[in-house]
Amino acid sequence: MGIFDKPRLKRASKGRDNLPDDLWTKCPDCGELLHTLDLKQNDLVCPNCFHHFLMGAYDRFKLIADEDTFEETETDLISTNPLGFSHYSQKTELLRTKTGLKDAVVTGKMKIGGNPVMVAVMDFKFFAGSMGSVVGEKITRAIEQATAEKRAILIFSSSSGARMQEGMLSLMQMAKTCGALALHSEAKLPYISIFTHPTTGGVTASYATIGDINIAEPKCMIGFAGPRVVKETTHQDLPPGFQTAEFMLDHGLIDAIIQRRDLRRKLSQYLDYTMPQS
Ligand SMILES: [Zn+2]
Repeated sequence: MGIFDKPRLKRASKGRDNLPDDLWTKCPDCGELLHTLDLKQNDLVCPNCFHHFLMGAYDRFKLIADEDTFEETETDLISTNPLGFSHYSQKTELLRTKTGLKDAVVTGKMKIGGNPVMVAVMDFKFFAGSMGSVVGEKITRAIEQATAEKRAILIFSSSSGARMQEGMLSLMQMAKTCGALALHSEAKLPYISIFTHPTTGGVTASYATIGDINIAEPKCMIGFAGPRVVKETTHQDLPPGFQTAEFMLDHGLIDAIIQRRDLRRKLSQYLDYTMPQS
């Protein structure tokens, strides 16, 4: 008896165990622990160092659209498995359930500052934003609709490159999207390309770099092959800041770096300048 029968003391950490896992988010740049709700209210930007966290497609539409003007397009396209790649169908099906997305891009029409635009937003959550035939087809259809309806086209890129599980069919999308952009350009309509972290591979090598205006979010990675591959191939040490948006701005690949909080206002300004006067 005695003290050995006393009920066990509650563990001090028990309350902490019950906290939801995603209540706090650590900034990967400055290490600051941020309340997830505050972070969401700040458009997923660290208030301490302005690190821009990855943002989902629908959040981006909300960020830039005039109120109640967004309308999603091409909602039914999903990937098949044209090469019979092992486990590819299961993987895409799992990702559709997990992310609520049909593929790595969402397209829609909206107005920004009263200007009519078509917008395609890539979402890195789905297959690391890789470009397969559905991504290419949806972007092409968005561009073609923009041309037909005399709208500007905006493409937010975020991609690990072409989707190897679809082989040549995914590489074909590079030429297809650029072809549609050439026709859009002939119609004297503006194309604004927005790089978000990270934009690499076949997306960098096709539509992402040929905007009339190319802009990027701060510190986002922009490149074709990764830095390790470049270093091993060229046998050279890479300069500091290689493949960041800041480096690309210094070297003329992009025209501006824009903070997320300024994006809507800046896009609206660019569209006012570049949309044909009716
Ligand atoms: Zn930070």
